[in-house]
Amino acid sequence: MTNHLFSLIRDGVPDPAKTAIETPEGRRYTYADLIARSGAYAAALRAAGVQPGDRVAVQVEKSPEVILLYLGVVRAGAVFLPLNTAYTPAEIGYFLGDAEPALFVCDPGRRDALTEAAAGVRTIWTLDGAGGGSAADAADRQGSGGGAFADVVRGPEDLAAILYTSGTTGRSKGAMLTHDNLASNARTLVAYWRFTADDVLIHALPVFHTHGLFVAINTVLASGGSMLFLPRLDPKLILSLMPRASVLMGVPTFYTRLLKEPGLTPEAAKGMRLFVSGSAPLLAETHREWQARTGHAILERYGMTETNMSTSNPYAGDRVAGTVGFPLPGVSLRVVPPEGGPALGPDTVGMIEVKGPNVFQGYWRMPEKTAAEFRADGFFITGDLGKVDARGYVHIVGRGKDLIISGGFNVYPKEVETEIDALPGVIESAVIGLGHPDFGEAVTAVVVGGAGCPDEAGVQAALEGRLARFKCPKRVLFVDELPRNTMGKVQKNLLREAHAALYRD
Ligand code: ATP
Ligand code: MG
Repeated sequence: MTNHLFSLIRDGVPDPAKTAIETPEGRRYTYADLIARSGAYAAALRAAGVQPGDRVAVQVEKSPEVILLYLGVVRAGAVFLPLNTAYTPAEIGYFLGDAEPALFVCDPGRRDALTEAAAGVRTIWTLDGAGGGSAADAADRQGSGGGAFADVVRGPEDLAAILYTSGTTGRSKGAMLTHDNLASNARTLVAYWRFTADDVLIHALPVFHTHGLFVAINTVLASGGSMLFLPRLDPKLILSLMPRASVLMGVPTFYTRLLKEPGLTPEAAKGMRLFVSGSAPLLAETHREWQARTGHAILERYGMTETNMSTSNPYAGDRVAGTVGFPLPGVSLRVVPPEGGPALGPDTVGMIEVKGPNVFQGYWRMPEKTAAEFRADGFFITGDLGKVDARGYVHIVGRGKDLIISGGFNVYPKEVETEIDALPGVIESAVIGLGHPDFGEAVTAVVVGGAGCPDEAGVQAALEGRLARFKCPKRVLFVDELPRNTMGKVQKNLLREAHAALYRD
């Protein structure tokens, strides 16, 4: 059996001298560098006593060096476990206690702050983005011999990574992903999105999340393409790099921010072949504006930490705004009543369930939760509500946990938010259900208003006639901004907690 994930990458290398990763400051890593350095990391990990199956937890700022380390971990047969750079030492303490890694890698500047959090971990390395620091030193000691590292044999069913979910709905859970989960999804995306060795991806996403790590990096490296590696979203820098690039992968915020740049023109985007969006819903209006400004239709796709990518709008066919396209080849998707039962017909909203080689093995150390999220026939219950239209396009309607049941009627927050967001002066909104003595839950709108935004009564009056009465918010609250996590997702659980007593006092 081959070392699945890494052999996929190595097999994709067209020419060892070709650039794999480049930074705006001009640092360049060829495929030969990638193979030699990741081999040196793998050898250093083995020398440090990391055994196949051990977790290697990593909390470091984004740099190409993290990718070399990631590949090294995989080649050593260990399990890569990246942690959000925004996590505090107390949060890191929780995750390290949960994951029990054999080794923890952090930035040199954070080592002191994390000493207590990492007290139970046998070995701690530091890594700086320039390749200095003790992890890189350990790799250096393996010298060029590291390039010849004999990858630890792992089967397709062995774990390659544990990735914690974004924590949008509660505490993050560790999703166990095998070599086969990751390699098969990468292969599918290379084919579906037509990646080749000529592609140059603008990479401005974080690398501790499924989007920036697996969707972006595995897909590019498996096709032998290159990446321009940006530390963070920088709209002006992205615009200036477009003439040298072919693909951008972003979350919806990327596109709304780029649309504010006057330099975004058809000319600027001329050499690009693909703009991908995911991780959160892309507003249909953003999709339309982008097409009008650049001539490109954004390709929206849908996935989760647990499932990798499940659906995508077509590369060649119609990319329909407000939809996430079709199930990818090899992926089965169905919509069922939330309590279970036979698949629902077209255009009927229910729970989305997914099955295929992309779907994870379960939540780390949560056997009961894992068992509860899989049906007997192997389908994973995503927790997202949606429907499939008559043409087969999948629509995400929202999260099951966000569904509001008011007076016995189902209210989908997205429908109400769309109406509120369309009102003049409204910047954005989040609609939540709060406990109510008469209705069970009451529809409540939390609104970020700009100049000319109507007040509470004004919003309510504007919605009357546009929405059935049971969908209209009983109360409208105004805030300066909505709470979001690092992937730009609105954390409705925080809003629900903050206003839990609104109708009870
Ligand atoms: P947690 O599971 O910890 O609450 P999370 O679900 O936000 O956090 P991720 O795995 O990063 O963690 O995100 C997956 C979720 O993101 C999906 O279940 C879905 O709700 C949402 N999502 C992803 N892509 C899209 C999309 N194109 N449109 C709408 N929602 C999307
Ligand atoms: Mg989730």
